[in-house]
Amino acid sequence: MNYASQSHLVKSFVLDASEKTVSNLTFEDDYSLQQFKESAYKLFYDIITVPAPYLYQEPNPIVELFRLIESSLGSLKSSQKAILSQLEKWWVEWHFVASMNVSLERENKEQDYNVISTTQHPMRKHELSHYARLFTILPLPVCDVCMVTGDILKVNQRFIDVFGYTLQDVPNLNVWWKLAYPEKDYRTFAQTLWQESLEQANQNNDDIPANDYRISCKDGSEIVMQVSGISVEGEFIAIFNDATERLKTQEILSDMAFLDSLTKIANRRRFDEKLTSEFNKLSNEHRELSMIIIDIDNFKKYNDRYGHLEGDKCLFQVAQKLAETVCRPEDFVARFGGEEFVVLLPQTGKQGALFIAEQIQKSIEKMAIPHKDSFTGILSVSMGINTIEHEHDSDHAQFFKKADNALYYAKKQGRNCIALATDN
Ligand code: GH3
Ligand code: MG
Ligand code: MG
Repeated sequence: MNYASQSHLVKSFVLDASEKTVSNLTFEDDYSLQQFKESAYKLFYDIITVPAPYLYQEPNPIVELFRLIESSLGSLKSSQKAILSQLEKWWVEWHFVASMNVSLERENKEQDYNVISTTQHPMRKHELSHYARLFTILPLPVCDVCMVTGDILKVNQRFIDVFGYTLQDVPNLNVWWKLAYPEKDYRTFAQTLWQESLEQANQNNDDIPANDYRISCKDGSEIVMQVSGISVEGEFIAIFNDATERLKTQEILSDMAFLDSLTKIANRRRFDEKLTSEFNKLSNEHRELSMIIIDIDNFKKYNDRYGHLEGDKCLFQVAQKLAETVCRPEDFVARFGGEEFVVLLPQTGKQGALFIAEQIQKSIEKMAIPHKDSFTGILSVSMGINTIEHEHDSDHAQFFKKADNALYYAKKQGRNCIALATDN
């Protein structure tokens, strides 16, 4: 209802009431006052739309309306003025109560949310459709599953986009496990992991802990997903996060942790690991293990003459040549530090190791890197070899030390030499 019709109704009410009342709004009895009040409230009820504008709205529309009415009535009798001012007071009161009712009703609705049926309450209905829409457009795959029946109740659009499966393709968990995990052993592993995660969720605020799963998509491709979620009243919501990028980064970081940045072959850390693992294998299997320590001859002088940058370049070339020469998949080459390299040769005895050392010597010689301060005029290396058999009483520090002693011996022999560790 607009201002004009509201003010018209109020004006008629005031004029009508002023005829019925005794002077200055004094009534004959309480009953007449009650009747007057009732008819005033009826008027409010007719002309105010609920939810009414709040009382504290500025400018206050009620006060404004009454000022408008008052001015349009022109010169009023005092009884009419009294009626109008009484009306305004009641209206403000009435309006306050009406607004309070509206806000209380709203609060109650919020508290009773779970028990209120969606058909009775348009607010709730609206919100539900809002959240359903959010679920659908969430920018990561999500699915909602009934834990009792295993039925998949809902999947969102991103789920369909990423995996290619619609709800028709995967109506329940049985089908999902078979399609998304076609390999039987891996499926058993994934199901066990998921079951354990659900049990953990039971004990931990319903949070399903995140784990990586390799999922087969409808088009046959595979994708690694970090799956976590939440269990809620007999259902769980699984949330899928693409783990590909994270795994790639982890791989790069772990490569970086084990790679020597200058020479691009394995570093000392990786060598330590490899030595420990190869050493442990010795006792279990009837094997031999050989190690060659390689040290560039007179490298300090090389740096002094050609500069550190040339020295770096030379280290890179030597490392790459070593990796190229020691090429069985089980063999291993690392930069031990400075201008020293180390080679591990599993299942290789003394003779085999000596053969490889000679190959290395030849390949370095062939590179013919000029080194004016070396005896031969080109870059050369010295090597110490040690071999150990499965029945051994030494640890790997000792194993290394003997190879190092042999290297020291080779240096003493005039460099560009290969020496075998003795008392083995
Ligand atoms: P020897 O024949 O007895 O092995 O003599 P050497 O000069 O090679 O041995 P020494 O241990 O006296 O010197 C090793 C040199 O290797 C010292 C250092 O300048 C050089 N070096 C170590 N690490 C690097 C590196 O990363 N880059 C370069 N350019 N030089 C390095
Ligand atoms: Mg050295
Ligand atoms: Mg050296």
